[in-house]
Amino acid sequence: KNIILYFSIIGALFIMASCQSSNEEDRVASLLEKMTLEEKIGQMCLINTPGNNLSDKDIQRLRNGEIGSVLNETNVDLINQFQREAVEKSRLGIPLLIGRDVVHGFKTMFPIPLGMAASWNPNLVKQSAVVAAKEAKSSGINWTFAPMVDLARDARWGRIAESFGEDPLLSAKLGVAMIQGFQSDTLNGKYKIAACAKHFAGYGAAEGGRDYNTALIPMRELYDQYFPAFEEAVDAGVFSIMTSFNEIDGVPSTGNRFLLRDVLRDQWGFKGFVVSDWCSTTEMIVHGFAANPKEAAERSINAGVDMEMVATSFHDNIKTLLKEKKITMKEIDQAVLHILRVKESLNLFEDPYVDKNEQHQYAAPEDLLLAKKITSQSMVLLKNKNQILPLKLPSTKLALIGPLADKPYEQLGTWNFDGDVSLSITPRDAFTKRWGNKVSFTPGLNYSRDKSNDGFASAIANAKKADVVVFCAGEEAILSGEAHSRAGITLPGAQAALIKELKKTGKPIVLVIYAGRPLVLNDVEPYVDAIIYGWHPGTMGGEVLADIVDGTMNPSGKLPVTFPRSVGQIPMHYNHKNTGRPVDPKQWIPMDKIPIKAIQTSLGNTSHYLDDGYTPAYPFGYGLSYTNFDYGSIHLDKQVYDVSDTLRVTCDIRNTGDRDGTEIVQLYVRDLVGNVTRPVRELKAFKRVPLKSNQTKKVQFYLPVSTLAFHDMQMNRIVEPGRFQLWIGGDAIVKTSVYFQVK
Ligand code: BGC
Repeated sequence: KNIILYFSIIGALFIMASCQSSNEEDRVASLLEKMTLEEKIGQMCLINTPGNNLSDKDIQRLRNGEIGSVLNETNVDLINQFQREAVEKSRLGIPLLIGRDVVHGFKTMFPIPLGMAASWNPNLVKQSAVVAAKEAKSSGINWTFAPMVDLARDARWGRIAESFGEDPLLSAKLGVAMIQGFQSDTLNGKYKIAACAKHFAGYGAAEGGRDYNTALIPMRELYDQYFPAFEEAVDAGVFSIMTSFNEIDGVPSTGNRFLLRDVLRDQWGFKGFVVSDWCSTTEMIVHGFAANPKEAAERSINAGVDMEMVATSFHDNIKTLLKEKKITMKEIDQAVLHILRVKESLNLFEDPYVDKNEQHQYAAPEDLLLAKKITSQSMVLLKNKNQILPLKLPSTKLALIGPLADKPYEQLGTWNFDGDVSLSITPRDAFTKRWGNKVSFTPGLNYSRDKSNDGFASAIANAKKADVVVFCAGEEAILSGEAHSRAGITLPGAQAALIKELKKTGKPIVLVIYAGRPLVLNDVEPYVDAIIYGWHPGTMGGEVLADIVDGTMNPSGKLPVTFPRSVGQIPMHYNHKNTGRPVDPKQWIPMDKIPIKAIQTSLGNTSHYLDDGYTPAYPFGYGLSYTNFDYGSIHLDKQVYDVSDTLRVTCDIRNTGDRDGTEIVQLYVRDLVGNVTRPVRELKAFKRVPLKSNQTKKVQFYLPVSTLAFHDMQMNRIVEPGRFQLWIGGDAIVKTSVYFQVK
């Protein structure tokens, strides 16, 4: 009986679900039939906010159905008015998409995405997106241009801040988590907003790290490294994909049929819509890929762009292009269908308006707590000489110094349009609240680029009176993000000079970095006793720093990106290929040790720089804790596997210190000999493992052999039989490994 009941319920649910989706399909299909060409074109246009007041012309355009989506409006009353014009006054009543860059929080700001990536915690990333969606949706926004899942291997690139770092697996997992958070169905999808995986594709590979620059990416690397995060985003049901500004091999992404149709639609089955980036359609004219806006529209529509952001080449030219048979109605209908389906999935036809009273909901205590949690997991301890941290507080006298110790806006980082700066807790706020007159604050420099030493004397005097200096350095928000690449990525301004002066006081220095990218710290590293890398930490930055400094929290963040020793080493990423030269560090001679004669003869045994070797300052996956973790030997359940098998890998991890802590356990694999050369290591799995002092845990990974696949010489995705090496450890250069065979 129970079984019959069970099957009846399942059957009923199934019928309900399919009725619902076919109803949606019906509505969208019958709408499309009724639409005039002008109304269809309207859906393909995303316009920048018309301003603080709707002009008669805007109102008329909305009523005519000439505008399908708007970006950058956050005034709830105005958004409701837009929707009212579109829904109640236009012929077909199609609601609008209201887009915004909600990248790492809306009012409550979370760490920049690169910082969140350092938590290696998909669950918290997802929750942060749920909160961001809730706050944004109650302001009327129903579509965010996030997550950015571009792989970023060049710290000069300003938008590395917005990425999840250099690894395909980590980027994919965190990208999916964010999409699930934004598009969450909880509370009947009340706060669901459409996500947008961007920028498709290869934007992070900008040559020289200069934003917008040409990307040189071989096809195999595109598939094996740059595509996975996008493919997983599609599998996770992302509603939209944004094209990228760059070209790859002569073809700008916005006119790239291979990317937008062959890969995205045909190979991956993407059902949502493709939006151009800001005027990236007409930028193809500057690229030299289209002669004029009309040709730009033709090339992008034929390539598979469904919606044009800001530029008006679609609006102005679609009719002529149809007449001239340069595009067909099929492309237009498909584009409109893709867009309408997303509006339908967001429930906008039923509920396009925002309840203004909900706005007070932002920064709820539990949301700030969440921000605090993810911020604490994002901070990375890079150095802790003689275990100077945690400090013995409150008995220690602190000199809080540095241009970023009290900058509520700067600590929120890039893509902060709507963050509530008044919520920001700076280090100065948190330290003084917690330790009162044990803390004395002197900035020393007014801002990170400040070159003047006018404030040095008071900072030095402050240090002399204290037991320990906490120096908050780094970059203001404006130094990273879009169009904000830097050629030299050391500490800007006179920060290094001030640190060196402070060192002369003999006081230990704890260096805290707030920045949107990995900085080259080699110049200052020898002068400081500890380094905490806090990225741009968001609203709760200061509070979390206080927790880490006094030991309330034990740092657990790990680097999502390799830190170079010098700018000249870039590009640098852990999952590179080997050269044919044997790699033996002992064979590498630093430049000052090389006999003059030898320089003139051949030296190289490895691919290295004479002056900087080939090892990074800090490898991918690196991060210290206030305790230590010991890794036992790696155990595989067998040595030889079929392609359809799953490896079960176990390893004992022990917390050997007297503090509780969390280790991010990482599993790397190398395919030793391939049909084509393979990276020296690839991250295949990871786990956050909390361990009490002296506790040992058996950590277990299940790794399907299919995850070892790559694209072979013929561009087929295969798992190749052969020998593999597998490492488990706390970073990408850990030594202990085992071997296995795939037959
Ligand atoms: C950026 C996108 C962003 C868009 C809208 C562009 O310049 O590249 O990432 O979503 O502007 O603000």
